[in-house]
Amino acid sequence: MTFIAVAIPVARADSVTRALDCARLARSQGADLVEWRVDTLAEDPSGPAAVARLVAESPLPCIVTVRDESEGGSFAGSDEERIAMWQAANAANASCAYIDVELSTYHTRQPIQDAVKAIAHAGERPAEDRPRVILSFHDFRGRPAGLSSRVAEMWADPGSTISKIVWTARTARDNLEAFELLAGRAKPTIALCMGEHGLMSRVLAPKFGGFLTYARADDHGTAPGQPTIHELIDEWNFRAITARTKVYAVVGHPISHSRSPAVHNAWFRAANVDARLFAISVAPMWEAFKATLAEMFGSSLLDFYGASITLPHKEHAIRLVDESGGTVDARARRIGAANTITRAADGTLVASNTDADAVVEAVGAANIAGKRILVLGAGGAARAAACGLAFAGGSVVIANRTSSRATRVAEELATAQDDFPALDVHAQSLASLATQQFDVIVNCTSAGMQGGEARSENPLPCGVKLDERTIVMDAVYTPAQTPLLIHAASCGSVCVTGEAMFLAQARRQFELWTGSPPPSSL
Ligand code: NDP
Repeated sequence: MTFIAVAIPVARADSVTRALDCARLARSQGADLVEWRVDTLAEDPSGPAAVARLVAESPLPCIVTVRDESEGGSFAGSDEERIAMWQAANAANASCAYIDVELSTYHTRQPIQDAVKAIAHAGERPAEDRPRVILSFHDFRGRPAGLSSRVAEMWADPGSTISKIVWTARTARDNLEAFELLAGRAKPTIALCMGEHGLMSRVLAPKFGGFLTYARADDHGTAPGQPTIHELIDEWNFRAITARTKVYAVVGHPISHSRSPAVHNAWFRAANVDARLFAISVAPMWEAFKATLAEMFGSSLLDFYGASITLPHKEHAIRLVDESGGTVDARARRIGAANTITRAADGTLVASNTDADAVVEAVGAANIAGKRILVLGAGGAARAAACGLAFAGGSVVIANRTSSRATRVAEELATAQDDFPALDVHAQSLASLATQQFDVIVNCTSAGMQGGEARSENPLPCGVKLDERTIVMDAVYTPAQTPLLIHAASCGSVCVTGEAMFLAQARRQFELWTGSPPPSSL
C-alpha cells in the first residue's frame, strides 16, 4: 500500500493546537500519515516541548522533519537544536514512526548521524517501536545531477529504512525517471516530482510501489503541485490504482484548462476501466512533442495506451504516427490533423480524428445533408468541421480572418485524395458574407474563448442573416455562452454549445481506447 501523507508546517509553539486540528481533518479525509514540519519551531526554546505534544497527540502515525534551508525548508539553526527535536519526539511515545533527515546533512555532520543512529537503532525500546529513518534529497530547481548515484547512496546506507528523492520536473518525462527509480528500488522509496509537470508521479505512486505520496488537507501544501486529499482519493480514485493501471494523456500547450482528465477519469471509473488520464503540457515544437510521446509510448513500465491531442500538436500527431510506422486513418489523413492516438494490441500506433464526427453529431446529422453551411476559421477545428459536414452531405462555405488559409483548406478538401472523394467545400471572404443566409453556422475560430485574445469578439460578420431556422454552433466551449451564441439566441436561432462537440469527440476517443462507449449515465 502507498500511504497518503500530509505535511503540516508548525512554525511556532502556539500553532500546535491548530496543527493538530488540521491533522484530524486530514485523517477524516483519508490521510494515513502526517509529517510535522517543525523547521522554525526547532529554533524556538519551547520547540522540544511543542514537538513532544504534537507527537503525543498526533491523530496519525507521524514523520518528524526539521528541513534545512538548503533543501527548501526554513531551518537555519544548530545541530543541537535539531537533535533536541528528534529526541523530544522519540521520548513522547511510539507514534513518532519516522524521522526525516537530508542525505547531505546526515553524511556531513557526524553529531547528527550519531544522534539519528542512537534514536533509531539503540535504546531500551523494542526495535519495532523505534522511529525509522527516512534519508531524503530535494531539488526545487530541477532534476539534480547524479540522480541515480544519490539514490544508490541512500539505498546503500544501512542506517536508513526509507529513501526519498524529490525534484522539480522540467517536463512530463521526469515522471518516467521517478517510476524507473521506484521499479528498481533496493528498499522502500519515495520518488516524486514537484511542479506543474509532476502530478503523474504523485498520483501513480501506487502503480510503481512508492512508499508514500503527499497531499494537502487545505489550500497550503508544502511543495508545488501537491493535490488535495479529496482530489487524490475521489477524483483520481487513488486507492484503486494497481500495477496494471493503464495510462492515457491529453497533450497540448497550454493544457491546464483542459476538461479531458475530469471527463475521461469519471468515465473510466463508472465503466470499471482501470485507467487514468493526465493533462500533459508539451512545448509547442515538434521536437518536444516527439520526444515526450515517443518516450511515453516506448516505456515498458508506464502502460501508456493512448493520447488525446490538442492545440498545437494535432498535425504533429500525424507525423509521429507516420514516423513510427503506424496507421493514420483516412479521415485524419484527409483533415491533416489527428486528435487521438491509440496504441493497438500489437503495439503499433493509430491516429484518428474524432472532431469531424463530433461536429456532425452536435449539429445533428439530419440538419446537414443538402444544407448550406458556413464554417468560420481555417485551423485544425475548421478543417475537421468542414470535412465532417461536407462528408455528411452539406454544402460548405469556409471563411477566415486570413482568407488565403481558407482558400487553401477549400482547395485541398475539394480535391479527391486516395480513396476519399472530393468534398463540396468553397472559400469566401468574410466581407462577402454580409446579407447571405445559411442553414448552419459553425464557429471554429478561437474568438470568444475565455483566456484568448478576442474573448469578447463575435466572429460572425455583421449582416449575415440569422433567424429561428438557423442552427448556430460554437466550437469554443469555455464559456458556454459565447458572444456568437448570445447574438444567435437574440435572433431566435437554435444554439449548440461547444460542450456538445467536446463530449461527442471525447466519447469517440473513449471508444477507440476501450472498445466500448462510455456509460450513458454520465
Ligand atoms: P487554430 O489555432 O488551429 O485556429 C484558430 C483559428 O481562429 C484560425 O482560423 C484563426 O484565424 C482564427 N482566429 C483567431 N483569433 C481570431 C479572431 N480574433 N477573429 C477571427 N478569427 C480568429 O485553433 P483550432 O482550430 O484548433 O481551435 C479553434 C477553436 O475551436 C478553439 O477555441 C478551440 O478551443 C475550439 N475547439 C473546440 C473543440 C471542442 O471539442 N469543442 C475541439 C477543437 C477545437 P487566422 O488564420 O487568421 O489566424
